[in-house]
Amino acid sequence: MKKIQGGCYCGAVRYQIATPPVWSGHCHCRSCQMALGGAFATWAKVAAEDFAVIKGEIQHIEKTSGIRRGFCRDCGTTLTYAALNEVEGQDWSADAWFSAVTLDDPSIAQPKAHIFVSHQQPWIKLDDGLPTFPEF
Ligand SMILES: [Zn+2]
Ligand SMILES: [Zn+2]
Repeated sequence: MKKIQGGCYCGAVRYQIATPPVWSGHCHCRSCQMALGGAFATWAKVAAEDFAVIKGEIQHIEKTSGIRRGFCRDCGTTLTYAALNEVEGQDWSADAWFSAVTLDDPSIAQPKAHIFVSHQQPWIKLDDGLPTFPEF
C-alpha cells in the first residue's frame, strides 16, 4: 500500500501516515486561531503508531499548560497537536493529531464536526451540515 505523506510549507519536515485519517474535525478554539494564524484549524488523527516523521524534526512548544503544539522551526507551519494530560478522562497518547491541510492530499481527510464554535469568528458562516459543539 502506498504510504500517505504530508509536511510543512518549506519541506524541511515530512511525515508519513500508515492509514488515512480515522477522524478529522475543525477546531475554532481561540488557541488554535492564534497558533495557526487562521480562523480555525482542521485536525486529523491516526493511531500514534501509524504516524512517523520521515524528514527533519518537529519543534514543540507548550504555551498552554498540557497542550503541546508541533511546528516546523524553519517555516512555522503548525503540524501536530498533543494533549499531554488526560482530557475529560480520555488518554490522548494513543492518537497522533496533525493538521489535515498539511497532507499532500488534504482531501483524504473528511472532517466530521466543528468544535469550540463558542469561539467561532462571527464572519465565518458554516453551511456544511456538520454537527457543531460549543466546546469539545
Ligand atoms: Zn518548514
Ligand atoms: Zn483548538
